[in-house]
Amino acid sequence: MSELPGIVVTGASGRMGQMLVRTIAESGAARLVGALERAGHDWIGRDIGEAMGGAAIDVLVTDDPVEVFAKAQAVIDFTAPAATVAFAGLAAQARAVHVIGTTGLTEADLKAINAAARHAVIVRAGNMSLGVNLLVQLTKKVAAALDEDFDIEIIEAHHNQKVDAPSGTALMLGEAAAEGRGVKLADVRDSGRDGMTGARMRGNIGFAAIRGGDIVGDHDVLFAAKSEQITLRHRAMDRTVFAKGALKAALWGQDKSPGEYDMVDVLGL
Ligand code: NAP
Repeated sequence: MSELPGIVVTGASGRMGQMLVRTIAESGAARLVGALERAGHDWIGRDIGEAMGGAAIDVLVTDDPVEVFAKAQAVIDFTAPAATVAFAGLAAQARAVHVIGTTGLTEADLKAINAAARHAVIVRAGNMSLGVNLLVQLTKKVAAALDEDFDIEIIEAHHNQKVDAPSGTALMLGEAAAEGRGVKLADVRDSGRDGMTGARMRGNIGFAAIRGGDIVGDHDVLFAAKSEQITLRHRAMDRTVFAKGALKAALWGQDKSPGEYDMVDVLGL
């Protein structure tokens, strides 16, 4: 049997799920040991390679997380909040590293995930790409260097199937900007402007979300003052950057102590 770490991909038929299956197969650094979908999905029982329109890879899609997690050293999970919370408990029971890319998690979801991290390694990030995690660090630095004469606005664009807004990445950038300024994002967050909003509040951090077509993920952090502006920008051209980051996190987590980590830890930024 191969020594490579065994990985389960949840939501295997999804946009990220399929990208992860391909990335793991091509990596040579891990092996796919399970592909999970929700009960009733028409891919259940089929070979994941064939279901994706390619050659068979000898991994059948299942709806039983307990059975596949038991075989895995890591679970890579880009699904939906309720599923991710359930998987966190089950992955911890199996002592598998749980890499969470799912966004739109509530405070209650985060609490449940945090409880699971007492027993296993969890790596969670609203964006798994190297570039965005670097952008987070830069945003914190620039926000710390500038005063409130600079209005901070975070503008994000995503494909038309995305269900949450602002994006998990936009919120990461907002947290970083708030941290740089020494304030709490919850106290200065300004999202979903519509109608007679009144003038912009000094010191607020604004969010704007664009949805359209197949945009993978664009994020701008704008620092706008009276006579000058700075824009920090990241654009993801395809989903491989997220899948590669998630695989890196799964491998990185293998020898770590239980706890909750993020991509800044994984990338050593
Ligand atoms: P997607 O195409 O809708 O895929 C989600 C998949 O999860 C679907 O196949 C869905 O199945 C499946 N799923 C939902 N509940 C499940 C359950 N209980 N058990 C098993 N599978 C379940 O969405 P996506 O674009 O891949 O994005 C997924 C998540 O990742 C979103 O939260 C997105 O924001 C996030 N994301 C994060 C990053 C990052 O770097 N952190 C990057 C990209 C996306 P059904 O179709 O049957 O519902």
